[in-house]
Amino acid sequence: MAVGAAGYVFRPSTLDGVRRVLELAAERGVPVVPRGAGCSYGDAAIVAEGIVLDTSRMRRVLAWDPETGIVDVEPGVPVADLWRYVLGDGWWPPVVTGTMVPTVGGVLAANGHGKNAWRRGPIGEHCLELDLMTADGAVTTVSPKSDPELYYAVPGSFGQLGIVVRARLAMKRVASGLVEVEAVSAPDLEGMLRLLEDGLGRWEYLVGWIDAFPGGRRLGRGLVHLARHLEPGEDPEPAQTLRAERQDLPDTLLGIVPRSVVWRALKPLTNRPGMRTVNAVKYRLGATVGEDARYRQTLAEFSFLLDSVPGWKRIYRPGGMIQHQSFVPTGRAHDVFAAQLEACRRAGLPSFLAVLKRHRPDPFLLSHGVDGYSLALDFPVIAGSRRRLWKLVRRLGELTVEAGGRFYPAKDAALPGELYRASFPGGELDRFLRLKARLDPDGFLRSALADRLFTSG
Ligand SMILES: Cc1cc2nc3c(=O)[nH]c(=O)nc-3n(C[C@H](O)[C@H](O)[C@H](O)COP(=O)(O)OP(=O)(O)OC[C@H]3O[C@@H](n4cnc5c(N)ncnc54)[C@H](O)[C@@H]3O)c2cc1C
Repeated sequence: MAVGAAGYVFRPSTLDGVRRVLELAAERGVPVVPRGAGCSYGDAAIVAEGIVLDTSRMRRVLAWDPETGIVDVEPGVPVADLWRYVLGDGWWPPVVTGTMVPTVGGVLAANGHGKNAWRRGPIGEHCLELDLMTADGAVTTVSPKSDPELYYAVPGSFGQLGIVVRARLAMKRVASGLVEVEAVSAPDLEGMLRLLEDGLGRWEYLVGWIDAFPGGRRLGRGLVHLARHLEPGEDPEPAQTLRAERQDLPDTLLGIVPRSVVWRALKPLTNRPGMRTVNAVKYRLGATVGEDARYRQTLAEFSFLLDSVPGWKRIYRPGGMIQHQSFVPTGRAHDVFAAQLEACRRAGLPSFLAVLKRHRPDPFLLSHGVDGYSLALDFPVIAGSRRRLWKLVRRLGELTVEAGGRFYPAKDAALPGELYRASFPGGELDRFLRLKARLDPDGFLRSALADRLFTSG
């Protein structure tokens, strides 16, 4: 949203169509970038003066086994279609992102994680095999057994090794369409990290929301949400709650205000004083709930919070927004995140939305998983502050690298390439680039993100 590029968009609906797009790019000597739903609002799915290969018409479920929970999908299947398809048989995707709009291909390419990343890892861990169309148009089925080097490199490759044209995913059994949620407030960052650490092992999902405006003793105050699936027997009517239509969010708030207009009410508040107030009110409302407030929510309501405000991205117009998400080992998380929140405040650019999650390492080549925490910071790109914001992101990145951390670049646009490279001191990025040179020797698959992070720096 904060960055853009002009290109030619092709929307093939078949494998041959995808191949023809790659052939056309080769004939014309222009780069190609795959694109799913465009939810990476940084520069992951754009390329200047090239071809955008949009997979949104390739959205069929190819095979489904309700006994084993294994599903084969085309790359453009949105997360929304995936869970709707499997839920009625008592399954749910083991990893879902905070919105159901992204496609399976896009989330796999980013190796996305959910609020249960500490337990289930990223989506790549639940992909049993995938079909990859490389730049020459050849399709290879890749699994951990057939080609471990390639298999562990594709998730997190951001479309730079080939186009995922089919994915086989393992779903997770659920006994109900509801989760039990506990909401607890934390007075500061230390309290928040302690609550999350205590929740490990007891809850499937852990997520902390931080009010990034106050400093001093209230630095890092916020709310923690912990959730677990219901066990068999806990839901009096599982056949009902497992119906996809029972998960739908109501079209109105409080039965009166259409959700489609909520963003209009938020827009006048989308500035520093307004968001300071919104964050403070949100904290106080949550804090009055007190310790140990428990309630039940549908899986969709709990998992896809931002989808409850349709069109929310418009509140950031005209400048758009970026997100910076850093991953820091547990022992350093408090100090690094405190320094990052303080750096934002000092720069006069407090994050409008700040979210903490717990993670664990995983076997992927360009993994962002660490045994620790991530802090995702959303920033509006406001006229006149763009340079300051880019400089701030550099400082945030330096703090992460000094602590041996990693980055999730899906929604970033400002992280400098040399810091991304420095987050892989084991030479993983060079191994990745060697693989890229083998699979795509002419470098047809390109994106603004790959130019910034993979090949620069
Ligand atoms: C509100 C919101 C909440 C989010 N919450 C989370 C979260 O909780 N956890 C998380 O991990 N992420 C989260 N994300 C980020 C999102 O999961 C990623 O940006 C994801 O990549 C978006 O998928 P997409 O289909 O929109 O892909 P796009 O944004 O279109 O593309 C993303 C990348 O994937 C590549 N790509 C797309 N399709 C293919 C394909 N078929 N083959 C190869 N490469 C491909 C593109 O080239 C690009 O590099 C969130 C995003 C939003 C907007």
